[in-house]
Amino acid sequence: MEQQSRREFIRSCLYLAVSGMAGCCIRRPLDAAALEAPAADGMSAGYEPPYIQLHRNGELKKRGETLWNMMRQCSLCPRECGARRLDGERGFCQASAQLEIASYNPHFGEEKPLVGVGGSGTIFFANCALRCVFCINWQVSHEGAGSPRSIPDLAGMMLKLQDMGCHNVNVVTPTHYSPHILLALDQAAAGGLKLPLVYNTCGWERLEILKMLDGVADIYLPDFKYSAGDMAAKYSAGAAEYPEVTMAALKEMHRQVGVARPGRDGLVRRGLMIRHLVMPNNVGGSKQVFEWIAQNLPKDTYVNVMSQYTPYYKAFEYPEISRRITRREYDDAVRWAKEAGLSNLDIQG
Ligand code: SF4
Repeated sequence: MEQQSRREFIRSCLYLAVSGMAGCCIRRPLDAAALEAPAADGMSAGYEPPYIQLHRNGELKKRGETLWNMMRQCSLCPRECGARRLDGERGFCQASAQLEIASYNPHFGEEKPLVGVGGSGTIFFANCALRCVFCINWQVSHEGAGSPRSIPDLAGMMLKLQDMGCHNVNVVTPTHYSPHILLALDQAAAGGLKLPLVYNTCGWERLEILKMLDGVADIYLPDFKYSAGDMAAKYSAGAAEYPEVTMAALKEMHRQVGVARPGRDGLVRRGLMIRHLVMPNNVGGSKQVFEWIAQNLPKDTYVNVMSQYTPYYKAFEYPEISRRITRREYDDAVRWAKEAGLSNLDIQG
């Protein structure tokens, strides 16, 4: 009873924190099915995210504080640019220690096993360390469109998404704000959050940081963008080591959460779900991407072969990526994935 009262008190505080921001939230219309979605309790199907235990024993807060201190001379991402974020400096990613968020809302455009009927509860963070020239979210990732928010604000958003019937909390481009996310998750867990956490990342993650997310992230949703370092360097601000870093990261993510297997309701609550965006003129090196996955991870690893590449932002400065992909390019990519032996493909069209 006492614990229940404490939880209600925390929820009230977090709701007060978040209630003033509804106007900033970019909401997409909910469909009728979403409005009739069952309560969040019914969505968990008995799954308790391990972060709840980490909250109970104090470990989640401790890890959040450890990550926070890494912002003194920031080394949260592979850039390791050393920005003194706690002193107000902005890093290569353009983030200071001040959390900045663009929007939060139920999202129905994510992978089906994350969307269900209630949507995936996305939270879009401003700024980004990878800085791809073709970024679809460039206003948010490159230009920092978003508003300053507090950690209680973020915890309140997580709880609000749960109350809206979302099946998970999906943190989009989280790397540079991982300290804030863990500290907010700790507060939200105190307020009754029990949704799986989706860590929706460009894949370019340091192993040291990922190890601190063990038991925190339930679902890893990484990109595997390039198999060749020169392509990564050209289109992602000099990130020549992207392939090696991401390959090591994918192995660690798989070690932590395993293969993504949907429950009887079709929802995934734990596991690794890889995205590969097929690019014009095979800039991403799709064949090598699929072969690496098939040779280093289980063949039934979930892989979304994405067809929606559209030239945005500075892509028009590079003629080879200034168009959408052709049907032939997509079909070739799917064939390579199948020939590699991958058996759990999300294929479009
Ligand atoms: S997260 Fe940002 S500030 Fe930190 S190392 Fe990466 S680019 Fe630099």
